[in-house]
This record gives sequence, C-alpha cells and structure tokens, in this order.
Amino acid sequence: MPTWPDTADSPKVVVFLGIRYRLMGAKKYYLSQSTTNAGRKKAKGLHIAIWEEATGKTVPTGHHVHHKDGNQLNNHPDNLACITAKENLSLPKQGDRPKQKAHLAKARQSQAFKDWHAATRGSEWRKKIQRMAMEARRANPHHKVCQVCGTPYDTIEKRSKYCSKQCQWKASGRRRRIRKNRRRLGDAAV
Ligand SMILES: [Zn+2]
Repeated sequence: MPTWPDTADSPKVVVFLGIRYRLMGAKKYYLSQSTTNAGRKKAKGLHIAIWEEATGKTVPTGHHVHHKDGNQLNNHPDNLACITAKENLSLPKQGDRPKQKAHLAKARQSQAFKDWHAATRGSEWRKKIQRMAMEARRANPHHKVCQVCGTPYDTIEKRSKYCSKQCQWKASGRRRRIRKNRRRLGDAAV
C-alpha cells in the first residue's frame, strides 16, 4: 500500500506513484500534467488515481470520484466515493450554502464518514484539516451587536450574544436579579 499524499496544506504539486499532479482551476482539483496518464484523453485527477489505487479498480465510464466531505483537499481514500455522474450532478452547486450544508450534514451521518473520523482522530493530518476549517470560519465571521452594551463585534460563534466576558457576566447577573425579584414579588403577593 502506498502512503496517500497529504494535500491538506494545498501544495502546488503532488507526486503520486511517480506521476505529478498540479493544483488547478477555481475548484482546486489536483490534475496530472500528462494527458496520456492511464490512456486518458483528459488530465487525470489525483483523487481518481488514489481511489483506483486504494480499491484496485478502475473508475467506470459515466462515474465520478466524489469527495464525501466536500473538501477537495481531503484526498484520503476514505473520503473518496465512486458514484455515477448523475449522482454527482445532484450535489449542491458551489455557493448554494443551504443546500451544501444539508448535503454535508447528510454526509456526516454516513458510516464511511464516521469511520474516517474514528480512523484519523488525533492525527496530525486531521488536525491540519481542522485548522483549515477554523481559518475559514475566522475569515467569515458573523457580525453581531452585543445584547448588553450595544457594541457591534465580529465572532465565529453563530449563537454569540455578548461582545466580551464582562458583558456575559453582566447579562447572567441581570438574569439572576430578575429571577430573584420575581421570587420576591411572588412571595409578597402570597
Ligand atoms: Zn458588550
């Protein structure tokens, strides 16, 4: 078994089984420089080469190799599935966030994804992928307004309500006081 090339850091060129693959196009796929690789008329994708090596099969006509978690830089064999071109077309388009999210949520339910998670838990390579996801979140923060002091702030936490720990404390203190007052008023009414 060869070791699978680690593409999480998106190196420009990757060599797999003696063939060079270059990161190309807006969608960032690794494609072989050679158009005659394995008798293909078009450049061959690294993910296809990895899937074929891992399974010992050839991708049949009318089939694609799909990245299960939607990350083209995750070229581990466990993340690759051979599906019909039709199935691939039903995948959400780039930029269709709600559909992409639903698709990802579904993919995460799959046994293959769970196995991949279990197999790579704590690995350096997996940490790299998580780091990439975190960087992506940081690059795309939510714009919020603090519910205590009214200051606008950016956060990666979708459910964040407060700009700082101080404001969070103030809010929890306020909630406590409200509860206390309610109890006191309740007592007085009795
Ligand atoms: Zn605040």
